[in-house]
Amino acid sequence: KNLKKYYSSKKSVLSRAVSHVKAVDGLNFSILKGETLSLVGESGCGKSTTGRAILQLQPPTEGEVLFEGENLVGMNTAKMKKYRRNMQMVFQDPYASLDPRLTVGEIIAEPLKIHKIGSNKEKNQRVEELLDTVGLNSYHAKRYPHEFSGGQRQRIGIARALALNPKFIVADEPVSALDVSIQSQIVNLFQDLQERLNLTYLFISHDLSVVKHISDRVAVMYLGKIVELGDKKELFQNPMHPYTKALLSAVPLPNPDVRRERIMLKGDVPSPSNPPNGCTFHSRCSACMDICRTAKPEFKEVEGRLIACHLYQ
Ligand code: SF4
Ligand code: MG
Repeated sequence: KNLKKYYSSKKSVLSRAVSHVKAVDGLNFSILKGETLSLVGESGCGKSTTGRAILQLQPPTEGEVLFEGENLVGMNTAKMKKYRRNMQMVFQDPYASLDPRLTVGEIIAEPLKIHKIGSNKEKNQRVEELLDTVGLNSYHAKRYPHEFSGGQRQRIGIARALALNPKFIVADEPVSALDVSIQSQIVNLFQDLQERLNLTYLFISHDLSVVKHISDRVAVMYLGKIVELGDKKELFQNPMHPYTKALLSAVPLPNPDVRRERIMLKGDVPSPSNPPNGCTFHSRCSACMDICRTAKPEFKEVEGRLIACHLYQ
């Protein structure tokens, strides 16, 4: 609810003025149990910050994060530790996120160690079980991350995220660093695990073909705000927000007889420390009206979808 994450930074070495980067600027949305909600948008739009703010890895500047009805923002450490078990993160770069000095078994068992769960024997059993769950073998536990391919390393990262039996996983660009040929294997693993383990995902990606495959619902972000959120199928078939239209126009349609004109956006994404007034997309929108330059569009429901655009208000 009203989730915000602002950073302050000095404008320049010479000036004392501080500017606020509105990385995430007032998000209101829910993630339903058992679904995959994808967060899409160009790099720098605030997707990762949103994921990290939800998990309290970067505490929000303002707003609430309700997990099964409990607000995580400002929760005391002891209580938070209990909740953290239910929420895990899978990172983009399986090379950077695994400690090269630890064996795979030690990496996967780390969350169990932190939460003081099980004897050594039980930990080893759990590691074997987890390796099997993600499609690796028990003898991999004794090896080191550098002995594995990118796809295998991401499987190790996923096994670690599953160690505490979480309910909710934030996956931040989990396949972006992988070869295209490996991407679908990992996406399929995510889907398979969701079914077997009743997981709920926030899936962060800039790759719309991956998003089209994995999501139940999709939220489109632009400059720290969600501009459109809806059912995946409906959104891909009939994007409503001008920004969503432009983004999706770059995705090939399954039916080659149907053509969709590629919409090229003019200009660059404005700086989040100095976003345009009114609708923050107005500097690049071909449908821009006078009102768009001064008044912020409300994020509200239109035809079963949530959308922030004056065209629909
Ligand atoms: Fe374009 Fe106006 Fe809608 Fe913003 S509010 S997306 S500028 S039409
Ligand atoms: Mg990111």
